[in-house]
Amino acid sequence: MKSIIPYYHIVGKEIDIFEHSFKNKIPLLLKGPTGTGKSRFIEFMAHKMEMKLITVSCHEETSSTDLIGRFIIKGAETVWLDGPLTKAVKEGAMIYLDELAEARPDVIVAIHSLTDHRRELYIDKLGETIKAHTDFMLVASFNPGYQRGFKEIKPSTRQRFVAISFGYPDTKIETEILINETNVNASDAKKLVQIGTKIRNLTELGLAETVSTRLLIDAAKLIHSGLPKRLAVKAAVVEPLTDDLEVIQALADLCDLMI
Ligand code: ADP
Repeated sequence: MKSIIPYYHIVGKEIDIFEHSFKNKIPLLLKGPTGTGKSRFIEFMAHKMEMKLITVSCHEETSSTDLIGRFIIKGAETVWLDGPLTKAVKEGAMIYLDELAEARPDVIVAIHSLTDHRRELYIDKLGETIKAHTDFMLVASFNPGYQRGFKEIKPSTRQRFVAISFGYPDTKIETEILINETNVNASDAKKLVQIGTKIRNLTELGLAETVSTRLLIDAAKLIHSGLPKRLAVKAAVVEPLTDDLEVIQALADLCDLMI
């Protein structure tokens, strides 16, 4: 059975850039705040190119062992178990290292030889080097929250990638995404996008992250399933953004006027 193609609304030239990076075997870095369609884009491209997709959500404990593999005890024996990166390298799959900057530094070291002309993976625990399958592709995402204490990726690593910036789509596209994803009516979708745009422009609030398309989609889903609109916006858009009671109240008041 053929799986359903993930819905992805094209925002710019990202498909062309993806296809050319793949053709030229250059890894791809998707930059942008959370909830701006990076993962959805990768799911869509994997489907379009009929490639197996292996996603690893990196966090501060993610180590090269988690990616490359480890020995496990099975009965009386010790057996080697390939990690997701090794599997992708061998099978010619696409590996998506979501939030690469969060991972431990040894992950960056492990991917270095895969991200240049060598395209090989060194498995230190086996003392083996494996050449990547011709279809292997490495994609990583990164949230550049400069000044806010977000983790960085070193220039020497960044420069091994072709990169695409993801941001908040323009209002027309974002409205279409909301309607397509949630079946909310066009008028509510438009108002939600206006709310999103308004809050994104309130830079003086000093929010760590502002309203993503994901939050607007959540609000649209709650509205579509019958939750009163103002309550839906407060719960799905305002509350996830901040814990500051005054800011919550100010944003909720603002949203009440807009929906
Ligand atoms: P990220 O990986 O950037 O954190 P996601 O890809 O998970 O974000 O996007 C969050 C949600 O926003 C998706 O589940 C999808 O519903 C929606 N979305 C964002 N951008 C798009 C887009 N261009 N086309 C379709 N859906 C989108």
